[in-house]
Amino acid sequence: MAIVKVEKVSKRYPLGEQVVEALRDVSLAVEPGAFLAIAGPSGSGKSTLLNIIGCIDTPSAGRVLIDGQDVSGKTPDQLADVRARTLGFIFQTFNLLPVLSAEENVEYPLLQLRELSRAERRERVAHYLDMVGLARYGSHRPNQLSGGQRQRVAIARALATHSRLVLADEPTANLDRETGRSILELMQRINSQAGTTFVFSTHDSHVMAMADRLVHMEDGRILREETAGALQAEEAGA
Ligand code: ADP
Ligand code: MG
Repeated sequence: MAIVKVEKVSKRYPLGEQVVEALRDVSLAVEPGAFLAIAGPSGSGKSTLLNIIGCIDTPSAGRVLIDGQDVSGKTPDQLADVRARTLGFIFQTFNLLPVLSAEENVEYPLLQLRELSRAERRERVAHYLDMVGLARYGSHRPNQLSGGQRQRVAIARALATHSRLVLADEPTANLDRETGRSILELMQRINSQAGTTFVFSTHDSHVMAMADRLVHMEDGRILREETAGALQAEEAGA
């Protein structure tokens, strides 16, 4: 069963007298374990689609199923629970809380999981900080970390709740190429070792080339799609 199913989703934003059609009749199914990139120019609807999949925003028409559950009919409390237990979100600008240490940032979403004891929370924080290579940086605040390290903290935070699906909106856009590549490699490793599904957006061709599946968007629509074989052939030819 698909972990994400987007069915004929449209999103319209009122903008003064006008209406912006951010998504037009978008359908997409994502299988568990996918490493999927959404590519497209600025304004093509990538963030809107990720926000709707991530239950941060709601569609104007159509429906979204996460793990087979239709999220459109859910109350804000139920949505918060889906977000807390199934999804992790990684943002272009990292979105760490500046007054909290790396450890506290990773622990923060775990506070919503009432069944975890303090000791269990601490254990998870240590485990995921270690996984992203930041075991020694737990007490550092975001402004004491580099961009790449901040994004690693955000990845640990996204995984700590045992998310099966991680959504990443242009996760490398604020990083230099080398650091961006290492962040993508970390995501790939987690994808292949833990089976975590990743859906990420980008407009960087190097990042697109690392996906197993690539969906091209333009003007609120999905234009076409490529799979790993075609992507590798394209890269080899380039
Ligand atoms: P991308 O992430 O691909 O750059 P977005 O999903 O952010 O694209 O935006 C798609 C379109 O929707 C753009 O035309 C953008 O201006 C518009 N849009 C996005 N969010 C809003 C909003 N909150 N209000 C009005 N228009 C919006
Ligand atoms: Mg965007």
